[in-house]
Amino acid sequence: MAKEKQCTDKKCPFHGNIKLRGKSFTGVVLAKDTHNTATVEWSYPVVIPKYERSETRRTKIHVHNPSCLDADIGDIVKVQETRPLSKTKKFVIVENMGKKKGFIEELAAREEATVEGAEEPEIKKPQETPEETKKKDKTEEDKETEPKEKEANKTKEKKEKGTKEDAKDSKEAEK
Ligand SMILES: [Zn+2]
Repeated sequence: MAKEKQCTDKKCPFHGNIKLRGKSFTGVVLAKDTHNTATVEWSYPVVIPKYERSETRRTKIHVHNPSCLDADIGDIVKVQETRPLSKTKKFVIVENMGKKKGFIEELAAREEATVEGAEEPEIKKPQETPEETKKKDKTEEDKETEPKEKEANKTKEKKEKGTKEDAKDSKEAEK
């Protein structure tokens, strides 16, 4: 009995004046603050019939962390729905089931992944240096100019023929 602290938390499910009801989930404490609030997260699979695959989605909620339980980051906890305790809290931790192994490492890995994701677009689209663009323009011009000249010659020939034919036509018309 000496270990047990005296709980003065009014929002404690065991020593306070709240009634438990509604839904219950099991999740992991993601964050906690100094005002007996913790962020609890759990994941669940969602089957996508079109691709015949399943993806993992995560739910994150704010819960009341009673001072007698005082769950820490990485703890597996059971949360139970109750009346609204604050603007964002309507769940309370009712059981602390101990540390989840490797959760801190998982969090670090997730953070790293998000940082990499933000930098990716910059790596994918390297900006062309002005010199490169100039070179490209030159090569394109060289390619384009040759056929253009040929085409121009052809059109000239056509025009000349056309004029001759036109002249013939006009002569014939006169006859
Ligand atoms: Zn308590």
